[in-house]
Amino acid sequence: MRVLVVEDEPGIAQFVCQGLREASYAVDLASDGVEGLDYALSAEYDVIVLDILLPQVDGLQLLEKLRSHRIKAPVLLLTALDTVEDRVKGLNAGADDYLVKPFAFSELLARIRALLRRPPLQVETVLRIGELEMDTSRREVHRAGRLIELSQREFALLEYLMRHPCQVLTRTQIAEHVWNFDFANESNVVDVYIGYLRRKLDRGFDHSLIHTLRGVGYRLAPKEDA
Ligand code: CA
Repeated sequence: MRVLVVEDEPGIAQFVCQGLREASYAVDLASDGVEGLDYALSAEYDVIVLDILLPQVDGLQLLEKLRSHRIKAPVLLLTALDTVEDRVKGLNAGADDYLVKPFAFSELLARIRALLRRPPLQVETVLRIGELEMDTSRREVHRAGRLIELSQREFALLEYLMRHPCQVLTRTQIAEHVWNFDFANESNVVDVYIGYLRRKLDRGFDHSLIHTLRGVGYRLAPKEDA
């Protein structure tokens, strides 16, 4: 298994790389974010160990770049910053795990092994259907570049539709995935919210993205597939 380590502190870098090599991993070391991106773009790594505080491009920026280049290798963040905010930022940016410095090498190794056991993850945080784009970590929706403000429930409903593009979804399916038990049984709640969503998504556009299949349910599809 091939591991990329991006770490600028020579002591930690050596400790991590040597340990991983002794555990039979093929290891490359990059000592800043720019070099890290170069390596990640030129080889297929099974795991990337990424320090957050790096010169030039920091670890979180690098992580976003990796994900925007569709590099799906699991990423384990090393952080000296044991704050909730940094961990949340890292996980939202597409990290799979994190370890707070100082750490024991045995724990790093155990976490890397756990990441390697996982099936490939869906790391896409941005969903796209035609001209509609949803950034699930920033909680933003754009249609043809125009920002569309949605309530939490509308966002959840649209996310469910966008994760099942071009599929016919029944009212019951939608209700079960978007509402809890208190609301799922209110007969017209799905229709009401589809109405809200349509009004917001379609304002100023000449075609609707959400199609009604009378008596069956709804289907989200781009224009060419409508
Ligand atoms: Ca560092």
